[in-house]
Formats: sequence, structure tokens, C-alpha cells
Amino acid sequence: MKCKNCNNIVGETHSYCPYCGQKMGLGRLNFKQLLKDLWISFTNTDQGILHLIKHLAYRPGEVAREYISGRRKSYFNPFNYLLITVAIALYFIAQFEVIALDYSKIESDDKELLQFAFRYFNVFILLMWPIHGFLIWLFFKGRETNYVENLTFTAYLSGQTMLYYILALALFMMLPSLLTTLGTIIGLLISIWYMLAILQFYQTKSFWSILKIILIITLTNMISQGIIFMTFQWYRTWFV
Ligand SMILES: [Zn+2]
Repeated sequence: MKCKNCNNIVGETHSYCPYCGQKMGLGRLNFKQLLKDLWISFTNTDQGILHLIKHLAYRPGEVAREYISGRRKSYFNPFNYLLITVAIALYFIAQFEVIALDYSKIESDDKELLQFAFRYFNVFILLMWPIHGFLIWLFFKGRETNYVENLTFTAYLSGQTMLYYILALALFMMLPSLLTTLGTIIGLLISIWYMLAILQFYQTKSFWSILKIILIITLTNMISQGIIFMTFQWYRTWFV
């Protein structure tokens, strides 16, 4: 048999090409194959998205650490994960924004800003991703990770945070009257998860590290609120 990817001759017994690793005996691309690949990319127990989501939920720092140290085949790609969650969020916001937030109950001054922040929260998470990576890198410099490795780490964190927000959105839709309470609880839970992620990633439990993470969270919030406020002013000047 000839490998369709690298043209090397491969024995009949191989399921994967020993030269390039491509699966042998691939058929033509068609819709059925496309759906099958999509299904596998979700459910695959080694590198599927569901597998990743589960592991990111309770050992986010370790997942990122393993990925960076070379276990690339064990986990779904962080950058694809971020892009996919951004896309899902986009769909969700378009569908459910109005139902999730009852704007009539909110003061009109805040309403527009909130609506704006809500509608584009995926854009802001995406914008914050490199800043986020930079802050963590800066505060934990000297621990043998470079900026790109921190970017990889924060891609996982941002993707998973996006997923949590989508779930929160679904929850708000069901219980709109509890928006403020649930918002506070969810925000707190995400912050704790985020702190554990960094502690795991840098394999530390020191008090000093926890202080640094609190500082990172505070700075991240200030910067993202600043960005939201500035882009909102800009948006209002030019588009409204
Ligand atoms: Zn090959």
C-alpha cells in the first residue's frame, strides 16, 4: 500500500503510516466522513474536546504543563479549543442575550455598557488572552517558562472560562431573578479555579504565589474593564 500523505510504500498490516503517522486506507472526503471526524474530535477519549474539558475542570494547570512539556497528542490543541469556544459563545450570545438579561430592570446608564460588554464578551476574552499570558509570565518570571508557553496556558484558561460563561448564561436564562447572586458566586468560583490553575501550572503552593495571583486577577479585571469602557466610548462615538 502507498501512503496517501507521503507516498512511501507501507506494509498491509499497518493501520498508520510509519513514516508520517497518517491513517492508512483513508477514503474520499464526503459528508459522512466529515460528521464522523467531527464526532471523533468531540468524543475521542485521548484528545477529544470532552476529554479536555473534563481534565481542564479539575487539573487545568497540569494539563497545560503536560501539553507544554510535550504530551501534544494527549490533549486537544489549546488554540483550536479557544477558537471553538469563541465560536460557540458567539452563537449563544446571538440566540439568548435578550432572554438572559432583562435590560428593562437595569438603570439606563449602565444598560448600554452592560449590553455592550455582554454582547462582545468573547471578543474581550480573546483580546485579553495575550495580556493575560503576559501578566502571568511577568509575575512568575524566572520559573523557566517563556511567553509562548504562558500563551498556550492562557489559551486553555480562556477557552475554559468562555465555556463557563456559556454555562452561566444558560443558567441565567433559567433563573433570571438570581442574576446578581449567581453572577457573584460564579465569578468567585471561576477565580478560585483560575488560582488553582496557576498554582498547578507553576507547581507551587506558597503564600507569595497566591498573593501574586490575586494581584494578577485584580490587574486583569482592571485592564479588561478599562478596555471594555474605552471601546464602548469609541463604539458610541463612531457607531451610535
Ligand atoms: Zn506516510
